[in-house]
Amino acid sequence: MSHDALAEAHAVYTTHNSTSLQAYLSSCKYLPGGNTRTVLHALPFPLTFASGKGSTLTSIDGNTYIDFLGEYTASIYGHNNSTIRAAINEALDRGWSLGGNNTYEKELARLVCERFQPTVELVRFTNSGTEANMMAVATAVAWTSRKKVLVFDKGYHGATLSFRSTISGDAGGMKRDVNLPHEWVIGTYNDIEKTVEVLSNVPPGSLAAILVEPMLGSGGAVPGSLPFLQFLRSYASSHGALLIFDEVMTSRLSYHGLGERLGIQPDLMTLGKWVGGGMSFGAFGGRRDVMGMFDPRNGSLSHAGTFNNNVISMAAGCAGCRLLDKDTTRRLNDLGERMKDMVQNTIDKHIDSEGSLANDSHVEVKDRSNGFVNAYVSTHLSNGGKSHTQPQQSGAAPKMWISGIGSILAIHFAPSAIRSVLQSLYYHHMLTEGIYLAERGFIALNIELTLKEVKAFVAGTGRFIEKYRALILGVEP
Ligand code: PMP
Repeated sequence: MSHDALAEAHAVYTTHNSTSLQAYLSSCKYLPGGNTRTVLHALPFPLTFASGKGSTLTSIDGNTYIDFLGEYTASIYGHNNSTIRAAINEALDRGWSLGGNNTYEKELARLVCERFQPTVELVRFTNSGTEANMMAVATAVAWTSRKKVLVFDKGYHGATLSFRSTISGDAGGMKRDVNLPHEWVIGTYNDIEKTVEVLSNVPPGSLAAILVEPMLGSGGAVPGSLPFLQFLRSYASSHGALLIFDEVMTSRLSYHGLGERLGIQPDLMTLGKWVGGGMSFGAFGGRRDVMGMFDPRNGSLSHAGTFNNNVISMAAGCAGCRLLDKDTTRRLNDLGERMKDMVQNTIDKHIDSEGSLANDSHVEVKDRSNGFVNAYVSTHLSNGGKSHTQPQQSGAAPKMWISGIGSILAIHFAPSAIRSVLQSLYYHHMLTEGIYLAERGFIALNIELTLKEVKAFVAGTGRFIEKYRALILGVEP
C-alpha cells in the first residue's frame, strides 16, 4: 500500500516534469547518474532548475515553487538578491583571478572577526565548508601533536568528514563515506554517558580535537543540549584538546553564532554557506595563538588555495554579511520559530500524542516552549542530557514532528519500515503544493519568505496528513 502510494506520486511527478526527465536522462551520459552532488538525487529523477527569484525557484518544466530549502542554508538571501548582485558586478568590473591580494578579503576578514567575536580572533578563507573543517582538524592535529579526533554519529562536516551512518531518506539509500583517514573516535550526540564511555578507551594525551555541530544540521536539525556542549567544552580544556564548533550551518541562528548564544566559546569555529553571500565559501578561525601558526612571517604552517580569496566570494560575502544584520537575523529566526509552532500545531491537530487519529479536541504537546533558551533548558530537564531527537510528548512516541531552531528546521517521521517512503511521499506532496524542501525533510528559511508563504507550507502539510493519515499512523488496511 505505501509503495503503491509512492508509485502513484512518482507517476504524477513524471507527468508534470517531463523536461527535467529529459535533462536527467541526457546528463547520465556524462555525469554518473546525472549527478555531481549526491544529496540532489531524488527518485524517480531530480528536478532541474532554470532560475530563482526572491523566495521562488522555477524548474525547466516551467513549474514555480516556494523555496523552503534555501540551498541547504547557503541561500539565506533568497534568489538573485540585488545588493549581492551589485557587489559581484562591481568586483567583476575590476577583473578576477588577479594572482595577488585584493581589498575584499581584508574587509570580509574584518566583518567575520567582528561578528563572530569573541571566538574568531583571526580567520582564513577556503572554498567550501568541507575544506574549512578539513583545515580546522589539521590545525588541531598540528597544534597538539596528537592524532585522535572526537566526532559524533549523525554529524556532518563535509564530503570527506561525514558521520551520518544512520540517516535514512536519501534517494538510493545510504552511501559509504569517503572520509579522510584521521583517527576518528565516534561519540553519541547529546549523550554524555556514551561519549564518556568511548573516551575512556582513548589513551591519555592522544585527543587532538573535538569537532561538533552545536545543532546537528544534515543530521536532522537536532539541537545540542546545553549540558552536552558544556561537557565537551570542559573535557577539551581539561585534556588539552581543541574544541571546534562547526557553525557552517548554525552561524545564522543568532547574530554572533549559536555557540555565543549558548555561552560556550570553542577554540576554533568553522563557517561556510551564507557567509560567502551564496558563492563558494568556507572559513576557519579562532584563537590568535592557534591561528597564528598560519602567519607566513613567523608561523609554522602553510595554507594554500588558488581561490581562497577569489573576488566573487569575497565581495558577495561582504555584501551578504552587511545585509544579514542583527535585525534581519532576528526577524528570520523569529519567523522560523513561529513556523515550527504552526507546523507542530497542525500535526497535533490531526494526530494525537498516542499516535491515533485526533478528535476535535486539540492535544497540547508538552515542552514545546520554543523560546530559544527554553528549548535547551527543557531538553536538559526532560532527558538529563541524553539523546533528544523528538519532542517530549507524553504517551507514545510521536508519528510525525518538526525539530530545529529558528530558521533551520526538519520534518520527521517515527522510525518504521516505511519511514523513508513517508519522507518521499511528503516531499512529492509538497511539490504538488508548489513547495520545495529537501527530500529528507530539511528546511532552511530565507529572508524573502513571509508569514504568507509559511501559512501555505502549514496548509500543505495539513493536506498531506489528511491524505496519508492511515500510512502515517500505521493503520493502513
Ligand atoms: N559542515 C556542515 C555543518 C554542513 O552542513 C556542511 C554542508 N552541508 C558542511 C560542513 C560542508 O560544507 P560544503 O558543502 O560547503 O563543503
